[in-house]
Amino acid sequence: MQNFLDFFQNTQERIIRRIQQLVEIESPSRDEAGSRMAAAWIADEARKISGDFKIERILAESYGEHLIVRAFPSEQKPVLLLGHTDTVHPRGTKEKNPTRIEDGRLYGCGSFDMKANIVLMLEVLRAFGEFGLTPPRPVTILLSCDEEIGSYTGKELVEREAAAAEICLVCEPSAGGRVKTGRKGTGMFILKTHGIPAHAGLEPEKGASAVLEIARQIQKIHTLNNLKRGTTVNVCTIAGGTTSNVIPAEAACEIDVRFTSGKEAERVESAFHNLKPFDERVRLEMIGAINRPPLERTKAVVKLYEKARKIAAGFDYELGETQVGGASDGNFVAALGVPVLDGLGLAGDGAHTLDEYILVEDIPKRATLLAKLILES
Ligand SMILES: [Zn+2]
Repeated sequence: MQNFLDFFQNTQERIIRRIQQLVEIESPSRDEAGSRMAAAWIADEARKISGDFKIERILAESYGEHLIVRAFPSEQKPVLLLGHTDTVHPRGTKEKNPTRIEDGRLYGCGSFDMKANIVLMLEVLRAFGEFGLTPPRPVTILLSCDEEIGSYTGKELVEREAAAAEICLVCEPSAGGRVKTGRKGTGMFILKTHGIPAHAGLEPEKGASAVLEIARQIQKIHTLNNLKRGTTVNVCTIAGGTTSNVIPAEAACEIDVRFTSGKEAERVESAFHNLKPFDERVRLEMIGAINRPPLERTKAVVKLYEKARKIAAGFDYELGETQVGGASDGNFVAALGVPVLDGLGLAGDGAHTLDEYILVEDIPKRATLLAKLILES
């Protein structure tokens, strides 16, 4: 154990440099060129590590490239390390938020969510190579390129690799160092109202306002919230109308839905599809669906967490757990019944903001934890 800690401590400067290199490659979701550059960098790094690795780059048209690294092949079911190469930051954001270290924090676009953790996965493989260790199970690293926007192209890969895996370690950001043993499921919907346009001054009675209708529907939609059961339903954007003297014919709003059980998801979805217009001349159109199922804190999840906690305690590293509202690709894995532990990434904060950072001092400990988890699986 000490060996791993020492190794990652001694190589920390190089690890930091690699994190900075990957963070510098901007790869927002749907940026094909950026995605390909990030995947190419990772593939190159993986090739430099000694070991029996197979690298697959999978094109996702209009999105970028998914990447799979298969290490230590054998007949055993693999350990799946899951992550993503896309970030939420549009290209050019690094001018506003330069990659840098201040007060022991490494700042940069996508550093915390989750490029530093991609490097961490590679560093663990590198350590195995240096120590001449072959883990008892093959290790599969799967990095999707559209996780931040719902994994529409990555989902199938995630499910395929997860179904074949013994366990899945999701290297998404931690919550203040704590791993995530529960995540809410998510749904994304758009409600459109189609009314009848009319002159707002000359003959308003002939019009049917799409804006008024959507305002009333939004109030109705918000009554579906049930905080006690962990269900949240929020209209997050609204748009409608054309100009100030026309009764608006069109309006639309985006609805964010989060839930902790499939039953709740069904309740909300069915309510959405049974909405009736307040003004019968207006037509309602609901688009969208439940996207990710919840990651429930099942016995298998708790067992894996307990194992990680014990390993961490072995080198005086306290590993807490938490349940969060945000979903990840770990949700798809959990739905298959595969034991999953999420939020194994480095301590830090500020996901999806210009203040995102990782704590440099956490690197050796987190890498050691990941290495030991793989060795003991
Ligand atoms: Zn992420």
